[in-house]
Amino acid sequence: MTDRGWTLWARCRGMDTTTFFPQKEDGRLAAARAEAAARSICRSCPVVAECRDTALQAGETHGIWGGMTYAERRAFARARKLGRVLSA
Ligand code: SF4
Repeated sequence: MTDRGWTLWARCRGMDTTTFFPQKEDGRLAAARAEAAARSICRSCPVVAECRDTALQAGETHGIWGGMTYAERRAFARARKLGRVLSA
């Protein structure tokens, strides 16, 4: 079982999770706004690395986790594997 104790310090704790799961069906502009809002919240989150790594370990393909989209998380994981990430 994964230790989820870090979620106690999540900046998004108690917030509406739909912000972190932008839906293309809502329209590109609305999805882009939701994504920007989520990223803004994540920027000041003290557990951003734990969140990102949990999503990567779980193979989470949807939503903003650790301030990143799925594609960004995958790129981050590839870069980290190649030793191109200085701090993880
Ligand atoms: S990084 Fe973003 S999505 Fe993850 S716990 Fe923090 S605020 Fe929530």
